[in-house]
Amino acid sequence: MSRLCAHCGKPFEPANKNHRYCRRKCYRAAYDAANRARIAKRRAAYFVAHRKEITTYCAANRDRIAKRKAAWYAANRERIAAQQAAYRAANRPRIAKRRAAGYAANRETVLKRLAAYRAANRKRLTRYWAAYYVANRARIVKRRAARRAAHRKRRKNSTARKGGRK
Ligand SMILES: [Zn+2]
Repeated sequence: MSRLCAHCGKPFEPANKNHRYCRRKCYRAAYDAANRARIAKRRAAYFVAHRKEITTYCAANRDRIAKRKAAWYAANRERIAAQQAAYRAANRPRIAKRRAAGYAANRETVLKRLAAYRAANRKRLTRYWAAYYVANRARIVKRRAARRAAHRKRRKNSTARKGGRK
């Protein structure tokens, strides 16, 4: 007698009456979903307990790990981008709030890091801004002219109020 998998819903032949999932993968996925918090806690504890071995391993295999990670990202680029976009779209207010809170809590660190980044990438940033200026010249010039006009108007008004200077 066949039965429907409790995870994917496909029919399968159970080997015994406690058999609820069609394959190991489904069992694993259902288990992970049901125990997410417990698994995360266990993983964090494992990391704390093995911090030294893990960091040593990572340091020794840095190149290999980086290569593997880069290959994974390259292979899954579209999937990751789609996932991130969906997440951002679904959580926009939450993300903005979290970002503002993070910035407020770490204002000095953020500013310091930003300054360090700017100092370290001065040349690259200069090139970037130059390219940006070229690409957006018309818009920038217009904005600057508007600002200057507003400034002139303000100055003229304040001089008029003082009765003019000679
Ligand atoms: Zn299944």
